[in-house]
Amino acid sequence: MSFEIKKIGVVGSGQMGNGIAHVCAKAGYDVFMLDSNADAAKDGLVKIDHNMEREVSRGQFDAAAKAKALARITAGTNYKDFKDCQLVIEAATEDETIKKAILTELVAVLPADALIASNTSSISITRLGAHTDRPGKFVGMHFMNPVPRMELVEIIRGIATDEDTYAIIRELAVKLGKTPVNAEDFPAFIVNRILLPMINEAIYTLYEGVGSVVSIDTAMKLGTHHPMGPLELADFIGLDTCLAVMHVLHEGLADTKYRPCPLLVKYVEAGWLGRKSGRGFYDYSGDEPVPTR
Ligand code: NAD
Repeated sequence: MSFEIKKIGVVGSGQMGNGIAHVCAKAGYDVFMLDSNADAAKDGLVKIDHNMEREVSRGQFDAAAKAKALARITAGTNYKDFKDCQLVIEAATEDETIKKAILTELVAVLPADALIASNTSSISITRLGAHTDRPGKFVGMHFMNPVPRMELVEIIRGIATDEDTYAIIRELAVKLGKTPVNAEDFPAFIVNRILLPMINEAIYTLYEGVGSVVSIDTAMKLGTHHPMGPLELADFIGLDTCLAVMHVLHEGLADTKYRPCPLLVKYVEAGWLGRKSGRGFYDYSGDEPVPTR
């Protein structure tokens, strides 16, 4: 295999997109990060600077290396800046219509031999790949949040993904300092197939009044040694993403056990998306998160 990746494109500059750009630049790749929202693209760069600085202050990153890594990243709204990328990783909002529209724009500018990976939490890699002109060069690369800190990347082969594509992406995950795990192309793959029903059940537990936000999170932290309670974790992931994953599980596996909790639906309808919107199961407007129920 003589395919060399030098420049990586990232679509979406939210919490996952900026994290992916961060680890790619740190590993020596040039990066272009695109967002449809120009302010979000700028905010993504600020966030990377802030997160890299934190690594410097903890002694995990040298200040000179940080400056070099940051200089490797550009951000903007123009797809033409993907034209010299060997790989683009799509990390935009978890919505199949949005992702398909992005793929249409992407294939129009990408070199014919460039690979495309999606960081989707749940959507079929086969279906997304079939929407491109290169299903063989399309693969799932599911990073965990926060990307710079979490060790795992799930690699998902669609039915048409070439063996070379899979091998290149697996090798890239290792170069980024991550541990790749293979997951087959079933709704929500491995981690979210297990994690999201647990979070959804925690929301049902709150909805039915079995416990308050604090009792549910404390019970799961102290009772099962989870580092975060499930409601705190839901806020951290983003309630819109949690709901989108539950919908994919419910529809994809056609089993009522995956029915999204109505309280989760209501929170998303209210725009209470968790940390990123300032309110979810906790209110983040003050110095410390305050439980809302
Ligand atoms: P986010 O809401 O923080 O960011 C999404 C970004 O996508 C926003 O900046 C938005 O402006 C941008 N966007 C929306 N439509 C776009 C378009 N048409 N073109 C370009 N950019 C567009 O969401 P996130 O948490 O970063 O999630 C992104 C992806 O990563 C989703 O597929 C999600 O399922 C997946 N993911 C999320 C987590 C998590 O814990 N949040 C973990 C693993 C994977």
